[in-house]
Amino acid sequence: MKNCFYKSTRSNDINITSSEAIVRGLASDGGLYVPVTFPTLEKSFDELANMNYRELAFYIIKRFFTDFSDDELLNCVNSAYDDKFEVEEIAPLVGSEDVHFLELFHGPTLAFKDMALSILPHLLKTASKKLNIQEEIVILTATSGDTGKAALEGFADIDGTKIIVFFPEKGVSKIQERQMTTQKGKNTFVIGIEGNFDDAQRGVKEIFSDEGFNEEIKRKGYMFSSANSINIGRLVPQIVYYFYSYLSLFKQGKISKGEGINVVVPTGNFGNILAAYYAKELGLPINKLICASNDNNVLYDFINTGVYDIKREFKKTISPSMDILISSNLERFLYELSGKDENMVKHLMEELKETGSYEISHSMKDGLKEFYGGYIDDKETFETIRELYEDCKYLIDTHTAVAYAVYKKYKKDTGDNAKTIIASTASPYKFTRSVMKSIDKDFDKCDDFDLIKEMSKMTGLGIPRGIEDLENKDILHNRKCRKDEMKEVIFHILNK
Ligand SMILES: *Cc1c(COP(=O)(O)O)cnc(C)c1O
Repeated sequence: MKNCFYKSTRSNDINITSSEAIVRGLASDGGLYVPVTFPTLEKSFDELANMNYRELAFYIIKRFFTDFSDDELLNCVNSAYDDKFEVEEIAPLVGSEDVHFLELFHGPTLAFKDMALSILPHLLKTASKKLNIQEEIVILTATSGDTGKAALEGFADIDGTKIIVFFPEKGVSKIQERQMTTQKGKNTFVIGIEGNFDDAQRGVKEIFSDEGFNEEIKRKGYMFSSANSINIGRLVPQIVYYFYSYLSLFKQGKISKGEGINVVVPTGNFGNILAAYYAKELGLPINKLICASNDNNVLYDFINTGVYDIKREFKKTISPSMDILISSNLERFLYELSGKDENMVKHLMEELKETGSYEISHSMKDGLKEFYGGYIDDKETFETIRELYEDCKYLIDTHTAVAYAVYKKYKKDTGDNAKTIIASTASPYKFTRSVMKSIDKDFDKCDDFDLIKEMSKMTGLGIPRGIEDLENKDILHNRKCRKDEMKEVIFHILNK
């Protein structure tokens, strides 16, 4: 097996190991870490098909993180994909002939972020030990809901780490807030800030780049790190479930060996769909990568025109985890699209920063043909949830509904009947209000916690452990602060 090294998307700096890339998160030139060359899988699909989720995860991640020993990586994988997932298969496929929903939401926080955030803390801890880093790692996160809870759950009680999450007091749902404020773990800290998500995000970014403050906490034995989706330690574990789902279809005889499939991903930061693209680079037979957006349709425009333009109104939708105008992980795709041209990527990123848009070259546009972009609005999202439920009694969340609706558009547009996997990124229980409202508008009058019970009654599905009894759990975090007090709060926490 060849060693896999990492470099920045924006310069031709020296190559670094995976441990270094995981600990650093972001390259010092502002670029993202990418593998210098993609690894190869020596095993045949027949051999891979016999592996369970953990075995496959170990096999694939090991090809990328070659400086982790077998024991170290096994320990990370086994600590991540254990019984905190409510189903034995970890990522089950649900569906019929042509369309299969890949349910990525059976982890502790009911969204696909768990697939990566359950392993990242173990990778980070192991990497920091390998590099002999003395400081304790402090994860700082600003969240609009999903990431914060998944990160808290992942880092809770991990030795040698602390996690501090800031959420906008008025910007998250009641269920999301309760999920965070009831978080257990003596190394977890949750703070509501007076302000919106952008205020929280800006505050955290300022703290990351405040050299004086970083020096000060270093003297106290700490260093900041991020659980953001730009970390390569979050991206690589996401490749696993695309292989796993393909191999499951193959094992069940639903596809023949080497048969091409389509993959549909409801997209925000472009992380999840990039993992599917990486899977394709490793040899997974994916025909079309279908990128689904909501009304924030920057990526739809990009895929169709080659122009990325963020000079537009930001829209709040019922699929909030996709309400994003700058998809950070697109940078890694641009790097591959340009034939690994770091100067080109640097130039495009500078242009985006200065002018709010960029246009890629003709040859790069050619590479976009592997993708299909589509978007749908809230009204169609509601309708899609209702129709699927009425037809099949299968309830999907708002993000998955965006993906499913775009898939239907694609099929109508192209007549392509290839077998298709839809990444189902959240449980309907996570976005209970919008989902129940699509079935019957009257549900909107109900309290959030009653809606959980109504959903369970309606579907006959048990309430997931992650939100079971949430209403009666003890509130363990009640810290609040103004947006200009974030630094003091962190200082206070670390001074104890
Ligand atoms: C984060 C998230 C997405 C978007 O995923 P990206 O990797 O950012 O593209 C989609 N759906 C849900 C439910 C999410 O939490």
